[in-house]
Amino acid sequence: MSATLIDGKAAAARVLGEVACAVSALKAQGIEPALAVVLVGDDPASHVYVRNKVLRAGEVGIRSLEYRLAADASAEAVLEVVAGLNADKTVNGILVQLPLPAHIDETCVLQAIDPAKDVDGFHSENVGGLSQGRPVLTPCTPAGCMRLLHDTLGDLSGKHAVVVGRSNIVGKPMAALLLAANCSVTVLHSRSLKPQKLCGQADIVVAAVGRPKMIGADWIKPGAVVIDVGINRIEENGRSRLVGDVDFDAVLPIAAAITPVPGGVGPMTIALLMHNTVTAARQQHGLSAQE
Ligand code: NDP
Repeated sequence: MSATLIDGKAAAARVLGEVACAVSALKAQGIEPALAVVLVGDDPASHVYVRNKVLRAGEVGIRSLEYRLAADASAEAVLEVVAGLNADKTVNGILVQLPLPAHIDETCVLQAIDPAKDVDGFHSENVGGLSQGRPVLTPCTPAGCMRLLHDTLGDLSGKHAVVVGRSNIVGKPMAALLLAANCSVTVLHSRSLKPQKLCGQADIVVAAVGRPKMIGADWIKPGAVVIDVGINRIEENGRSRLVGDVDFDAVLPIAAAITPVPGGVGPMTIALLMHNTVTAARQQHGLSAQE
């Protein structure tokens, strides 16, 4: 047996196609969705992420605005940019690229974003709404994972899902979304006892740890669906390459379906960011979240 590959690129293309249609419909009503991206400092990976977000926005017809601040910019300067974007009625989504330089309090900046424009879903208003089951702007990576799971399994009710990792940006919102989809959810972290045994009971495994190939064949129940969020760069046989948190080659013969790295969850994250921007634009104009 070999697992079905869950094609994140194809799924992302479908989401982006839906977003492009929704953008066209909004433009026909005189509304041009706009996403502002704030980048502080010169972290090379952040520059690549921002460039990709801006490119993708252009492809689906979303107007993008970039605000670049120097690495030594003060917290006040960043907050001033955010306040200006909150007040600008032509801007629908605001994304502050993380990580911020160490001297800036990330929580303080994220909390300054108008929750209605918080397309990353990190503001406590949106985090709280998600845990209460309210329809809020949801973090893009977990929302992308949910799309892949629904595409693969349809209804998730009654499934036992194990989320490995409990970060605020992936693990915790992922667990909340799985619970909202009527899964029984177990969250594992660095202090969990017998994580391998618990993970081995799961129908669905979502790995968001940041440790290359940590989850091997002996962590996975035969027939489980495995979503690998991890992105880790390793040196192997003298070559640098990206791998996930799951040992893909070892798990492939055991799982029913699995996301590759790259080409799995990664492309979905940006697609869901575009989706959130359109949702925000619709809601700010008094329209329902979905067309
Ligand atoms: P964090 O470092 O914020 O969180 C990692 C989590 O893994 C923590 O909750 C930690 O537990 C847990 N953990 C660490 N070691 C173990 C262990 N041995 N067993 C069980 N749990 C463990 O990472 P992120 O959530 O931000 O990211 C996780 C991975 O996903 C990274 O590789 C990142 O690059 C990738 N990522 C990919 C995205 C995409 O678009 N594809 C988007 C975002 C992230 P504890 O809380 O106890 O410390």
